[in-house]
Amino acid sequence: MQVTIKLPAPLRDCCGGMESIEVEARTIEAALAAASTQHPLLQRHLYTEAGALRPDVDILLNDDVVRDPQGATTLAPGDTIAIAPRGATGAAAPATARRTTSSTGATPDGARATEPAVHPSGLSQEEIIRYSRHITLPEVGWEGQRKLRAARILLVGAGGLGSPLGLYLAAAGVGTIGIVEFDDVDLTNLQRQVLYGVDDVGRPKLEAAMARIRALNPHVEVVPHPVRLTSENALEILAQYDLVVDGSDNFPTRYLVNDACVLLGKPFVYGAILRFEGQISVFGAKDGPCYRCLFREPPPPGLVPNCAEGGVLGVLPGIVGTHQALEAIKLILGVGEPLSGRLLLFDGLAMRWRELRLRKNPNCPACGERPSITKLIDYEVFCGLKPSSEMEDTIPEITPTELKARLDRGDRLQIIDVREPYEWEIANLGELGARLIPLRELPEFIGELDRESEIVLQCRSGGRSARALRQLREAGFHRLLNLKGGILAWADEVDPSLQKY
Ligand SMILES: [Zn+2]
Repeated sequence: MQVTIKLPAPLRDCCGGMESIEVEARTIEAALAAASTQHPLLQRHLYTEAGALRPDVDILLNDDVVRDPQGATTLAPGDTIAIAPRGATGAAAPATARRTTSSTGATPDGARATEPAVHPSGLSQEEIIRYSRHITLPEVGWEGQRKLRAARILLVGAGGLGSPLGLYLAAAGVGTIGIVEFDDVDLTNLQRQVLYGVDDVGRPKLEAAMARIRALNPHVEVVPHPVRLTSENALEILAQYDLVVDGSDNFPTRYLVNDACVLLGKPFVYGAILRFEGQISVFGAKDGPCYRCLFREPPPPGLVPNCAEGGVLGVLPGIVGTHQALEAIKLILGVGEPLSGRLLLFDGLAMRWRELRLRKNPNCPACGERPSITKLIDYEVFCGLKPSSEMEDTIPEITPTELKARLDRGDRLQIIDVREPYEWEIANLGELGARLIPLRELPEFIGELDRESEIVLQCRSGGRSARALRQLREAGFHRLLNLKGGILAWADEVDPSLQKY
């Protein structure tokens, strides 16, 4: 019966480059014998000189390891046998170095008396040795390494994602790396931002990142952009680069990068992380979808926690950032299958990858047939993080003393506490009928709230409750009050027995 034998990359050369071959066989042993009869070059990879199956050849049957490949397992039609790939050791330095040297001459070996200082490829001797493992790859080679050297890539952010991105893109020989970053290194960064060390704490990230990249690869030019990316500067900065890699950690920047890339016709490599999960894609590529094709509107503020609130396992940005680096390098080289039109989802706890197909949305406001976004907007306003200047943004307030007086006279007021449960544990107004709905969960509970009754929003000091008030107002509520100064002011003015924190 016919079965398929999948070949690992190193053995494909023995079979004319094919990834798999079909053979007729009833047992695994017979299938392997048939394979090496069809492709005699496989013989020495599969069998010892004595003709036995080599002990280092591992066989999988339909993805299960076969303990005894020469045993009596009978095959069923359509079975897939795989020869398990061995990870490369990367230790063949002397042989590769020799091969590289002998292949660098412009003229036949015999005619070359001395090694030229700069090879006709334009790469220096030092670069040829440095990138020899790349140059060996047919998908990179001289041409690819030259493309990498000519490439200009912009990193938006030099944090968790930007760290592996900066290191790997620099190591790979990307000629120009721009970095947009205005933050200083903080001790909390060191758990995941591998560009930085203890000595960098307190130093501008940009300065520390430039020093680290220069130490790794002096052939790379790092262009610093010590600013926050905004609608005013984004187009000018992004226009200087071939490709953008988004390592930002907030929605306004993500939408800004997307819209600017769509307007400029540049692709960008997207990555996002939270807790144990990550996402990667390529947006804005020719004929591919953009970030808004998938996420048309940002979530309400507070619904999706950031890494400071929600946490992130330190290795996650390493996993996602290295995938972004790989996609960026593939796009520069023009090899492989880019991640455009696919969203890769990683679940680190389950250790699983999933892939979603993404389509370009013909009605997308950014990249659709009749786009409504023809220039950059105010992304802080768009993401609900600050009020629009046109919109009246007076937050109606009530002081703790006023609230106490109104409750005492029997007014029906619903108090909603939008803090986190652990804060509620410390001190709360439960005795006054307050109800806990953390800000990020507010959208889920909007349907349960009474639009007609008067609602007082309360948090620790009044900031989050003002955000909650704006959300409810947008959802059509109008009898809303913000408790001025939050529960801390309540403790000061009304009930000193409350625990402050
Ligand atoms: Zn789009």
